Amino acid sequence: MIIAIDGPAGAGKSTVAKIIAKKLGFLYIDTGAMYRAITLKALENGIDIKDTQKITEAASASTIDLINNPDSSLKVLLDSRDVSLEIRQPRITQFVSDIAKIKSVREVMLKMQRKLGHQVNAVLDGRDIGTVVFPDAKKKFYIDADFKERVNRRHKELKDLDQGITVESVSLDLSNRDTIDSTRECAPLKKADDAIFIDTTNLTIEEVAEKVLGYIHG
Ligand code: C5P
Repeated sequence: MIIAIDGPAGAGKSTVAKIIAKKLGFLYIDTGAMYRAITLKALENGIDIKDTQKITEAASASTIDLINNPDSSLKVLLDSRDVSLEIRQPRITQFVSDIAKIKSVREVMLKMQRKLGHQVNAVLDGRDIGTVVFPDAKKKFYIDADFKERVNRRHKELKDLDQGITVESVSLDLSNRDTIDSTRECAPLKKADDAIFIDTTNLTIEEVAEKVLGYIHG
C-alpha cells in the first residue's frame, strides 16, 4: 500500500510522514532527500548545475538507500556513504530545486522511487508523489500552511544546526524553492485532484498525524 504526502517545504510533511510510517509499520521514503543526495553528488563532482547531461549521468550512476532508524530518524546513503547530515546543508538547499527541475533527472528519480515503493508498504513524501510518482496511491494528502508559519517552523528547525541562520534567509529560500518547484514544466508541485488537503497552520504535528491516520483508517 502506498500513502502519498505532498506539499511545500515547512508544511510539516516529513515529520508527519515519519510518524505515520512508524505507526503503520510502513517504510518512510523521503523523496526530497533523494534529490538532495544527487545535488550533493553534482556539487562534489564539480559539475556545473546547468550541465543537465552530466547531472543526469551522475544521477543514473548513483545508488541511494534510505534506512529508517528505530528512533524514526532517516539515514540516507549515497553510493553506500552516509550523507544524512550533509544533504541538509544550505549549499545543497540552495541548488536542489534547480537540479530537481531537470526532466531527465526526474526520470531517473521516478524509476528509483517507484522501485523502492513497489517493494513494500510505504509512505512517500515529496512534491509530485500523488500526481506523478504514484498516481494510484491508496491515500493522498496535500499538506500546506501559511507562508509565515512555514518560515518560522523551518527557521526553528535549522537553528538547531546553525545558530546564525536568519528568518530572512529562510524566507528567501522557501519563496525561491516554492516558485521553482511550482512553476517548473515537469511534475510541478501541485495538489492531486483526489488528494485530501490539510492546512496545518494552526495544528500541532500530533493533530496533523491524527487527522491523517483518521483518513487512512476511515
Ligand atoms: O523535501 P525537501 O524540502 O527536502 O526537498 C528538497 C527539494 O527537492 C524541493 O525543494 C524540490 O525542489 C525537490 N523535490 C522534488 N520532488 C520531490 C521531492 C523533492 O522536486 N518529490
